[in-house]
Amino acid sequence: MRICVFLGSSGGIKPSYGEAAFGFGALLAKRGIGLVYGGGSIGLMGLVADGARAGGGEVIGVIPEALRAREQDHSDLTELHVTRTMHERKALMAEMSDGFVALPGGIGTFEELFEVWTWSQLGYHAKPCALLNINGFYDAMRTFIDHVVAEGFLRPAHRDMLQVHEDPDVLLSAMFPNHPEAQLPWIGRADL
Ligand code: AMP
Repeated sequence: MRICVFLGSSGGIKPSYGEAAFGFGALLAKRGIGLVYGGGSIGLMGLVADGARAGGGEVIGVIPEALRAREQDHSDLTELHVTRTMHERKALMAEMSDGFVALPGGIGTFEELFEVWTWSQLGYHAKPCALLNINGFYDAMRTFIDHVVAEGFLRPAHRDMLQVHEDPDVLLSAMFPNHPEAQLPWIGRADL
C-alpha cells in the first residue's frame, strides 16, 4: 500500500510542523506503507521523506523537470520519476497511490489536495482523502468549508469525503479500515 502526501515546500515557522512531517514519514515506514510525494528535499516535503527513509520505508518522488532545481531532488529515494509537466506529475502520483493526505503547506499543497478531493466528489476515484491537522493549521479552512455547505454550494456528503484528524495513527486507521497495516497496533490482535 502507498499513500500520497501533499505538504509545504516551506517548513513553517514552528519546529512542530517539521517534527510532525518527519514523524508521519517514520510512521508510514513503521507500518510498511510506501510514501509517494513531490520528490524534493526542501521544507516539510524533504522532512516527510527523511522520516520515511530513516525508518527504512519506500519513498517514491515525482517531480517535473522544470522544478528539479527549485525543489532540489532528494538524494535518498527508492525511486525518482521525472515528468515533463506538472499535470503528468499529479496524474502519476494519483495513479501510484491508494490514498491522499495533506499536511500543512501553501497554495501548491491546497491545489493538489483540492484536485484529488474534487475527483472523489465526481467519482473519478474512490481513494480516501484526509487532512492531518497539525497545530490546528486547517481549522480556519474547515470553518470556511462548513460555510460553503451552509450556503448551498457543497453537499455534506461531499464535504465528508475529506476526513480531518489530529492524530496520525487515528488518521491511518480511519482512512483504511480494511487494511491491517493501517490499523492501530492493538486493533485485531488476538493476544490483547
Ligand atoms: P507549497 O504548498 O506551495 O509549498 O507547494 C507544495 C508543492 O506543491 C510543491 O511541490 C509544488 O511544486 C507543488 N505545486 C505548486 N504549485 C502547484 C500547482 N499549481 N499545481 C500542482 N502542484 C503545485
